[in-house]
Amino acid sequence: MAEKKCKINANSTWQEMTPGGTIYDAANSLEFTTGDWRSRKPIWLQEKCKQCGLCVPTCPDSAIPVIEGGNRTDFNYDYCKGCGVCAKACPFNAISME
Ligand code: SF4
Ligand code: SF4
Repeated sequence: MAEKKCKINANSTWQEMTPGGTIYDAANSLEFTTGDWRSRKPIWLQEKCKQCGLCVPTCPDSAIPVIEGGNRTDFNYDYCKGCGVCAKACPFNAISME
């Protein structure tokens, strides 16, 4: 199975994919831009954001980058899957799901 995973790339056809799109092996999340599968998108309303940081650890995909100094920046849409957990966690309504 792991051998099959290694052959998958951006040009692979659907026939070459793993059953159910299953991802094998650990520590390969950077190889798969899971944001491609997203149907909803969080929008960061910077003017409302208080930089409290509560949204950052709630993201299961580490798609909220934190820069030097501890402030969050805009979403990394390559890996955000649009689950909306960050929007629920924000006490200042600074994240809108669209
Ligand atoms: S919508 Fe989900 S995956 Fe995207 S940044 Fe928010 S918590 Fe992370
Ligand atoms: S939880 Fe809301 S206010 Fe706090 S850092 Fe995240 S977006 Fe900004």
